[in-house]
Amino acid sequence: MAVKVDLDKCVGCGACVDTCPVNALAMNGDKVKVDESTCVDCGACVGVCPVEALSL
Ligand code: SF4
Ligand code: SF4
Repeated sequence: MAVKVDLDKCVGCGACVDTCPVNALAMNGDKVKVDESTCVDCGACVGVCPVEALSL
């Protein structure tokens, strides 16, 4: 499992990237990209997204 990104909602602000303790998030152009094999489902990124694009 890994955090899910709603790419229609993501506005590419980058706020979630710095929040991830295992560096599973990176920007890919103007959208965030999840490294699903690295994500540990901690949920830290979910609460920082201003447009609720992230969910577990
Ligand atoms: S759920 Fe946790 S480990 Fe997964 S991308 Fe978000 S902050 Fe990183
Ligand atoms: S915090 Fe939300 S809107 Fe900003 S880059 Fe991450 S997923 Fe996209």
